[in-house]
Amino acid sequence: MEVLKATLVALLLLLLGDFISTFLYHVPEHVFGKFHSVVHHSKNRSFIHYAVLTKNPLVLIDGFLGVLPYFIFIPWFWKISAVGTLLGLLFGELHVIWRHVSILKWKTPKPIQFICNVLCITTPERHWLHHQDANLAYGDIFTFYDQPAQAWLRFLVVFKKQLKQRTRINNQ
Ligand SMILES: [Zn+2]
Ligand SMILES: [Zn+2]
Repeated sequence: MEVLKATLVALLLLLLGDFISTFLYHVPEHVFGKFHSVVHHSKNRSFIHYAVLTKNPLVLIDGFLGVLPYFIFIPWFWKISAVGTLLGLLFGELHVIWRHVSILKWKTPKPIQFICNVLCITTPERHWLHHQDANLAYGDIFTFYDQPAQAWLRFLVVFKKQLKQRTRINNQ
């Protein structure tokens, strides 16, 4: 029972964290912001360095806002299962590091690739697509957030255009 509870809490923490991070931070940031694009998508950078080691405040802010959605549920999840909460956070942290190893010419072994496909988990190869083209491969951890995130992205782009047009008309 405890094991099941811990697994469910860990899974829920990752599902909710990735959902909020993708739809309330990552996608809107691509449309309205600059932080994430500068930090995450600029060329010629070491992503391992970016993800783990840097002390650049911009990078830290992007990182902080990106992980915040995973932290806000801790008080509730902790009461249900402390082990599950820790497991979820640990998996999330390890996955951040793992999905940024592409720069090191990492190739995900076939069996792991297969497991990730079945479980809809983002591999470094898939995440690398997002770094190269910000219109692709959303969902930091779960691949099924990609399609709705792309639709959300298109919607926000149109919304931003309309907003600009309206302010232009109002200023005339
Ligand atoms: Zn990334
Ligand atoms: Zn991005």
